Amino acid sequence: MIQQEDQFKKVISHAKEYGYVFQSSEIYDGLSAVYDYGQNGVELKKNIRDYWWRAMVQMHDNIVGVDAAIFMHPTTWKASGHVDAFNDPLIDNKDSKKRYRADVLIEDYCAKIEAKIDKEIEKARKRFGESFDEAQYRSTNPRVLGYQEKIDGTLKRMARSLETEDLADVKALIEELEIADPLTGSRNWTDVKQFNLMFGTKLGASAENAMDLYLRPETAQGIFVNFLNVQKTGRLKIPFGIAQTGKAFRNEIVARQFIFRMREFEQMEMQFFIKPGTQQKWYEHWKETRLKWHLSLGMGAENYRFHDHEKLAHYADAACDIEFKFPFGFKELEGIHSRTDFDLSQHEEYSGKKLQYYDNEENKSYVPYVLETSIGLDRMFLAVLSNSLVEEELDNNTTRTVLRIPAVLAPTKAAVLPLIKRDGLPEIAQKIVDDLKWDFNVDYDEKDAVGRRYRRQDAAGTPFCITVDHETLENNTVTIRHRDSMEQERVPIQSLKELIKKQTDVKHWLMKM
Ligand code: ATP
Repeated sequence: MIQQEDQFKKVISHAKEYGYVFQSSEIYDGLSAVYDYGQNGVELKKNIRDYWWRAMVQMHDNIVGVDAAIFMHPTTWKASGHVDAFNDPLIDNKDSKKRYRADVLIEDYCAKIEAKIDKEIEKARKRFGESFDEAQYRSTNPRVLGYQEKIDGTLKRMARSLETEDLADVKALIEELEIADPLTGSRNWTDVKQFNLMFGTKLGASAENAMDLYLRPETAQGIFVNFLNVQKTGRLKIPFGIAQTGKAFRNEIVARQFIFRMREFEQMEMQFFIKPGTQQKWYEHWKETRLKWHLSLGMGAENYRFHDHEKLAHYADAACDIEFKFPFGFKELEGIHSRTDFDLSQHEEYSGKKLQYYDNEENKSYVPYVLETSIGLDRMFLAVLSNSLVEEELDNNTTRTVLRIPAVLAPTKAAVLPLIKRDGLPEIAQKIVDDLKWDFNVDYDEKDAVGRRYRRQDAAGTPFCITVDHETLENNTVTIRHRDSMEQERVPIQSLKELIKKQTDVKHWLMKM
C-alpha cells in the first residue's frame, strides 16, 4: 500500500517537474480538483485524443464526429434525468468535518478485502509452486470464499439500497462494517444525503430575465439532441455512430486523486445507434473493440479488467467498466453502456419532436437503441503517465528515471543533440530539426554533457535521441538512441524520417488491434 502511495506521489511530482500537469491557478494556491496541462501535457493529451479519434471515427466508415456546445437548453437536463437523478450519496464525518461519497467508502472497504484475497493467493502460489491452480483455489479455499462472499453481499446490498433510495440503509451498512474516516479513524457519521453534481450558471445580461443553465456533466446529450441533424444530413444508415470529445463538468464531492477525479475534465464519447433488440450483440462488440484499443498501446493486459455494474444507471439495460490498475488500485477508466432508447425517447417527450429513424429494410420508423462508449481523457492520461513512469536500476549501480510512454503518444518524438557545441555540429543538428519538424514534434538540446541530456529526455518520455558527432561530418550518419533499451545504432541522416515514422505512426500501433 505504502509502495503504491509512494508511486502515486512520484507520478504527481514528475508530472509537474516535466511540464505535464500543474495545479490550476497555482500562484493563488490552486483550485481544488482543477488542473492545467503544461507544454508536454498538452501534447500527450492531444495525442491520446487523436489516437481515439482515428480509431473511432477515421477507421469506421459508419462513425462520424460532432462538436456540440457546452451550454445546452436547460430542458435537455430535465429530459436526460440529470436534474432529478444525477446525484451521489454523500456522508460527512462529524469529527473531522471531511466529506465522503458513501458508496466509495463502501467500495474501498471491499477493495481492502480483495487485497486480502490477493495475499492469500500469493501465499498459496508460493506454497504449491508450479502446480498451483488459481481458479480452483478461488472456488474452493474456505477463507477466500468467505472474503468473496462478504464482498458480493456488501456490494449487492449497497446497490439495492441506492436503487431504492434507501439512504438510511447505506448509513446502516457503513456502521455495520465499522467503516472509519480514512484520515482520522473516526466513526462519527452524519446521515447519508443525495447531492446533485451539476454546476449551475446563468445566461443573460439582466438578473430579471436570466436563464438558469447547467455546464454539461457529460458530452453525450450534445450527440442525442443532434441525432436527426447528423443522420439526415449525413444520410446515415443504422447501425451508425456519432463521436465527440469535449469538456464536461461535475461538482464532485470528493476530488482528492489528482486528475483521476476532476471538476472540469474531458470526455471522449461515442453513441452507436442500433436497431432495438440488437443491443446485446453490439454491447459485446464494443466491449471487445474498446479493450483491443487499450491493449494496442502495449501497457500490459494484466492492467485491465472488466467490471460489470451492480447498480445500473437510470438509462441502462447493461453496463460495465473497463478498469485500469492505477497506482491506487483497479478503478474505472472507461464505461460501456447499453442505454436502450431512453435518451432519444425522453428528448422526444420533452421537445415534442420526433426523433425516429425510418428503416427501409423493415419498412417502419422506430426510436433507435444506443450503445455508448465513454472514456475520460484525463483518466487515460493518468493511466499512461502512471504506467510509464519507472525507475530502473542500471548495471553500473546507478538508477535512471524513464517515462516509457508508448511512442505513438509521446509529446516529443525525437531530440536532436550535437555532441559538442562547436565544429559545425550544432548547425547540422539544427538542420536535422528543421527537416524533421514537418512531420514530428522534435526538440533541439545542446546544454550539458550528452549523458545528462539523454537522462533528461528519458524522463520527459522522448522515444529517440539523435546525436550528431564528428563522424557525421565525414559520412552524414548519426546515432539514434532508443529510450527503452538505451541501445544506439548508427544510421544515415536520410533514413531518420522513415525510422521514426515506423515507430510512432498511428497506423503501426492501431494495426495491432
Ligand atoms: P465514477 O464512478 O468514477 O464517478 P462515472 O461512472 O460517473 O465515474 P461516467 O459518467 O460513466 O463516469 O463517465 C464516463 C467516463 O468519464 C469515466 O469512465 C471516466 O473516465 C470519466 N470521468 C467521469 N467523471 C470524471 C471526473 N470527475 N474526472 C475525470 N474523469 C471523469
